Amino acid sequence: MMTLDTETVRDWLEENFSEGIKNSAIGSDQRKEWTKRLATIGWTAPHWPKEYGGGGLSFQEHVVLLKEMQKVGASIPDGGMGMGLIGPTLLEYGTEEQKLRHLPRIVRREVRWCQGYSEPGAGSDLAGLSTRAVLDGDNYVINGQKIWTSGANHADWIFALVRTNPDAPKHDGISLVLIDMDQPGVTVKPIRLISGESPFCETFFDNAIATKNDLIGKPNHGWAIGKRLLQHERSGLSGMGAEGATASKKGSQEYHLARLAKKYVGESTDGKIADPAFRNEVIQQRLNQLSLELTLNRVREENASGKTLGEITSIFKLLGASQGKKNTSLQVQLMGSNGTGWEGDGFTQAELGATRSWLGSRAGSIAGGTNEVQLNIIAKRVLGLPD
Ligand SMILES: Cc1cc2nc3c(=O)[nH]c(=O)nc-3n(C[C@H](O)[C@H](O)[C@H](O)COP(=O)(O)OP(=O)(O)OC[C@H]3O[C@@H](n4cnc5c(N)ncnc54)[C@H](O)[C@@H]3O)c2cc1C
Repeated sequence: MMTLDTETVRDWLEENFSEGIKNSAIGSDQRKEWTKRLATIGWTAPHWPKEYGGGGLSFQEHVVLLKEMQKVGASIPDGGMGMGLIGPTLLEYGTEEQKLRHLPRIVRREVRWCQGYSEPGAGSDLAGLSTRAVLDGDNYVINGQKIWTSGANHADWIFALVRTNPDAPKHDGISLVLIDMDQPGVTVKPIRLISGESPFCETFFDNAIATKNDLIGKPNHGWAIGKRLLQHERSGLSGMGAEGATASKKGSQEYHLARLAKKYVGESTDGKIADPAFRNEVIQQRLNQLSLELTLNRVREENASGKTLGEITSIFKLLGASQGKKNTSLQVQLMGSNGTGWEGDGFTQAELGATRSWLGSRAGSIAGGTNEVQLNIIAKRVLGLPD
């Protein structure tokens, strides 16, 4: 039964979301106040249980909330990997103590989390990881290196897959552990990219300490839990949740393919894209996009609980990443030489944005597991094909 209706949300927004907040800068006191107000009612984590600070909303109520917020230009502050990855994993596998310790702080946006999975020698073959955690009294002593740790230079905590039994078969000797980044044993080195940005880092553990209570689930049983966390990640990346259901399509207007094609390639007298080859490509891309959106809608409708689905998340991760790459690639092709700018006055903001999102979209089929890895999961775990 619905307990949260549009009127209740509208009244609350009218009282709590002002024009001042709407126009304030990210990081400003007004934004902080907005986060605080949302967190007080649990709406920074609308679907999490109330006992851990969440809003206790059903999937449908969550969608109602987001739609009403969207109408007035309000949004929920990004909860990063706390909200999207480790939070839901703790809800499923954490002890009561772990949930009470970590979840309310994620709800209040007080801690930032990062993901310590990949290593220089273990990416797609994640179970080949070699970072070691050795039990010493009540503590684990951790040594090793992670790589591509997004946002590690700003994070307070890291959830990491570590090897707790080097003698067991590789999948059976892994644990998932929570590590406080604020200690001498943890060093972070940002990786500078060709763009000049450093979105991810190398993270080194040199006798870093985690307590016995920081391990999630039983020792050496971390592989299944770590894989479940990846399903939360892939579900988020492909927009399978309530946020995806209400995602604004407005932002894409200036990159609307048919509009771009008519502007850059030309328009025939009967209003069609002048070039038939580009016309076909734009239509095909639009059809693929629509069928993905409709299939996602069907999946959401059939999954009334709103809980993250299992291995089929790989299908949507694969399709979403592939579509994203095709879409941004077609945009720059339509723009011709205008779609090749990196900076400078010779290009509009939209053109510069298109080049950057084209390059950025290349990462979509690598982050969260590569396309080939998703195909392997679909073959083995969804279709049940032999190894
Ligand atoms: C934007 C971005 C953010 C990231 N953030 C994080 C993060 O926060 N934390 C984290 O831990 N990691 C992060 N990663 C790392 C990411 O998870 C890995 O890059 C990814 O899993 C691939 O591993 P790899 O780079 O070692 O490539 P490799 O595993 O070396 O793969 C190289 C190529 O070989 C192919 N390949 C490998 N094995 C197989 C196989 N069995 N069958 C078929 N093809 C195969 C791959 O598909 C790929 O094309 C991030 C990556 C990106 C791009």
